[in-house]
Amino acid sequence: MSQLPPLVEPAAELTVDEVRRYSRHLIIPDVGMDGQKRLKNAKVLCVGAGGLGSPALMYLAAAGVGTLGIVEFDTVDESNLQRQIIHGQSDIGRSKAESARDSVKEINPYTNVILHEERLEADNVMDIFAQYDLIVDGTDNFATRYLVNDACVLLNKPYVWGSIYRFDGQASVFWSEHGPCYRCLYPEPPPPGMVPSCAEGGVLGVLCASIGSIQVNEAIKLLMGIGEPLVGRLMIYDALEMTYRQVKVRKDPECAVCGKNPSVTELIDYEAFCGVVSEEAQEAALGSTITPRQLKEWMDAGENIDLIDVREPGEYEIVKIPSSRLIPKNEFLMGRALEDLPQDKRIVLNCKSGVRSAEVLAVLKAAGFADAVHLGGGVIGWVNQIEPSKPVY
Ligand SMILES: [Zn+2]
Repeated sequence: MSQLPPLVEPAAELTVDEVRRYSRHLIIPDVGMDGQKRLKNAKVLCVGAGGLGSPALMYLAAAGVGTLGIVEFDTVDESNLQRQIIHGQSDIGRSKAESARDSVKEINPYTNVILHEERLEADNVMDIFAQYDLIVDGTDNFATRYLVNDACVLLNKPYVWGSIYRFDGQASVFWSEHGPCYRCLYPEPPPPGMVPSCAEGGVLGVLCASIGSIQVNEAIKLLMGIGEPLVGRLMIYDALEMTYRQVKVRKDPECAVCGKNPSVTELIDYEAFCGVVSEEAQEAALGSTITPRQLKEWMDAGENIDLIDVREPGEYEIVKIPSSRLIPKNEFLMGRALEDLPQDKRIVLNCKSGVRSAEVLAVLKAAGFADAVHLGGGVIGWVNQIEPSKPVY
C-alpha cells in the first residue's frame, strides 16, 4: 500500500494560540501548517471510551483533531480505572461519555466534542458514522465490530481497528476502497463463548496504550495523507515477548460485504450473526442442553416430548427436524406462546444453532417449565450428525 491522499481538506487557518499549542507538530516537515490544519478540520468518531478509547481520545484531542465524537452509554466503574485512563476516581458512577468529554476538554479546549450516549445499533450507526471522516474502534465484542465494519464499507469510511487481550494486541486499518475489510480477515465470528472477553480473561492495562496509540498514529496519517497506512496489514503485538509482527491481509474477492458479489448489502442482525448469548440464557442452558444424538434416542424410544422449533417460518421451511412444530421465538418473548404449552410433556426447543433456543429456554424456566431442555447446536447440529442429506443454510 502506498501513500494515500489526505482524508480531509485543511482548515482555513490556525489561530495564534493554536500555533503556540501545536508548535512541536508544525516544525515536523511532514506535518507543517498544512497537516495541522487538516487535523483541525478532521472529524473522528471513537466507538467506546474504554480501554482503547481512553488513549485514543486523549491523543487525538492533544494532536488537535477538531471534532471528536464519542459513542458510549456505559458508566465508569472502579474496575475500569486500571486501564481506562481518561476516567478518574471522582468519575466513578458518572456517564463515561461525559467523563471522557471533560478529560478531552481539559487536554484541549479547542476540540469540539459530540456525545452519542447510545448503544450502537444497525438503526443508528449510519446516521452517526455519516457525520465523521474516520472511525476508531475501541469495542470489545464481535457483534459491534461486524456492525462497525459493515457500516464503514457501506459508507466507504476508513475503519481503524484494534483489539486487546491479556498481553496480546492487534491493529489494522480496514478500508474497502483501498484494501481488505474486517470480514476479509475474519469472515465468520468465533462460536459464541469461544473467545473470552477482557472482562473474563483480563487485560494488561498498558496494552491499551500500546494498541490505542497505533490506532491514533494511523488515524493521523490517514487524515493528513502521510506515510504508509496500515491498510492490508495486520499488526500483531506481543507485550511479553516485546515483538511486533505484521501479516499481509488480502482483500477477499468472495467477501460477504466488500467482495464482487456481496451478500450483505445492508446492515443485518449482528447479535444473531455473532450468536450473542445472554447471561440468563447461558444459565438456563446449563445442564439443560441435549445433543442431537440424545434427541434422536428420545425420539426412537418414543419419549413423551414436544419438540418446538423457535426459528422464523422461512427458516423452518428450508429445513426442520422431523416431528418438530414451529413457534417463533417472539411468541415466547411476548408471552403469547406460554399458555398453549402442554404440561404433561417434556418440552425440547431447537433453533438454527442453539442461541435463540437458549433464550427461549430461559423464558420457559422462569415460567416454571423446570424440565424443559434445548438442542445444543440446533438444526445445523442435527443435520450434521443425524440427517446429513438435508440442507443447511
Ligand atoms: Zn471484505
